[in-house]
Amino acid sequence: MVGDTGYVVLRGRVICPDKALEDGYVAFEDGIIQSVGKSSELGRWPAAEYIDFSRPGYTIFPGFIDIHIHGAGYYQAAHGQVAKLARFLARFGVTGFLPTLASATRQEYLEWLHEVKAAMAQVAQVGQVGRDSAGRGRDGRGAEGARILGAHMEGPFINRLSRGGMMEERVREPDLEECEEYVDAAGGAIRLMTLSPELPGAIDLIRYLRSRGIVVSMGHSLAGPEVVAAAVGAGASHCCHIFNNCPYDNLRKEPGVRRPGIDEAALVNPGVTVEAIADGIHVDPLMLELALRSKGLSGMVLITDALPGAGLDDGIYEMPDGRVIKTRKGDGIRLKDTGALVGSGLTLPLAMRNFMQWMGLRDWEAAQLVSGNPARVLGEADSGFIEPGKRADFAVLDKDFNCVMTIVGGEIVYERG
Ligand SMILES: [Zn+2]
Repeated sequence: MVGDTGYVVLRGRVICPDKALEDGYVAFEDGIIQSVGKSSELGRWPAAEYIDFSRPGYTIFPGFIDIHIHGAGYYQAAHGQVAKLARFLARFGVTGFLPTLASATRQEYLEWLHEVKAAMAQVAQVGQVGRDSAGRGRDGRGAEGARILGAHMEGPFINRLSRGGMMEERVREPDLEECEEYVDAAGGAIRLMTLSPELPGAIDLIRYLRSRGIVVSMGHSLAGPEVVAAAVGAGASHCCHIFNNCPYDNLRKEPGVRRPGIDEAALVNPGVTVEAIADGIHVDPLMLELALRSKGLSGMVLITDALPGAGLDDGIYEMPDGRVIKTRKGDGIRLKDTGALVGSGLTLPLAMRNFMQWMGLRDWEAAQLVSGNPARVLGEADSGFIEPGKRADFAVLDKDFNCVMTIVGGEIVYERG
């Protein structure tokens, strides 16, 4: 579709940073957005190809970005499956993501970082070749899926008292030398690290990570406001899954008195963005509304924190680790036998729809929480919004928030059959 000369033009309802443009268009060339406007102005743009989405209920969103995801479909964000996950996520309008690995051994992390680095290089190479008239890359392959933006290490420097589902023998105190080994091995692939800022050595570690351009997320933590302030002073800027960080018993100061924990501290600290699992299961919608009202539209990011099984049709599945799970839209992923909650089965279009329904947000407002804001958290200045100069990353959804087409860097990576 993308010729070497001329534009590609998408027509339809376009989500702009501050409004939805009815009857609009967006034109791009060489993977970069050149122009956005009303369809009536379109005549001035010489187009190589038009793709018309001007149908009732269809909307052209900026591509979605998931900065916290452990897997989806039949794939984990690890164990040789990262590239397959990238392809699967394109079915949900995801154009960029951070494969995420919870606390693991040093060896497991090193192997995983090599995998992420290799998968990034593979996808980047495919994404840079041009396309022939059949829409294939010059090497015979089209772009293959969502961009792998780098690695999110959710650990291992995590407080064992707030480790959640992580294994106790996999969490440990900050170790600068160990961390340097990861950073060196990853060669720039680590974009985000979640750690417990109250642990000894954590503040020095935060300074080191910032000096290497890695975004620091505070989470799985018993920290209070003083520790959060110190961590922010050292460069931490983000808070892991809000309201899923800390066992609440820990916040009892004395009978009848509650102290603020990391979540409350993050909500009131203007230097911190917060992310939330927006499935309505892991956090009650009322608490999500509290977070949104505290941080405002620009301070909050929706994540899936999803596991394999997410995005599959309702049913019973055997997962890569052998567990038999049950999925149902609107619920988490549960063990088939006991019904125990294993994790999130959320996708980003559903997260966005949930926020629209629960909070009364308009779609162009909710879109910021899954595109512009996660891009900003990572410092991806060229992504997250539909405006000239940004990457041509799009998610086209129908009225039921099902994905119709996903475009990454100007290349169609998913089209509903
Ligand atoms: Zn997680």
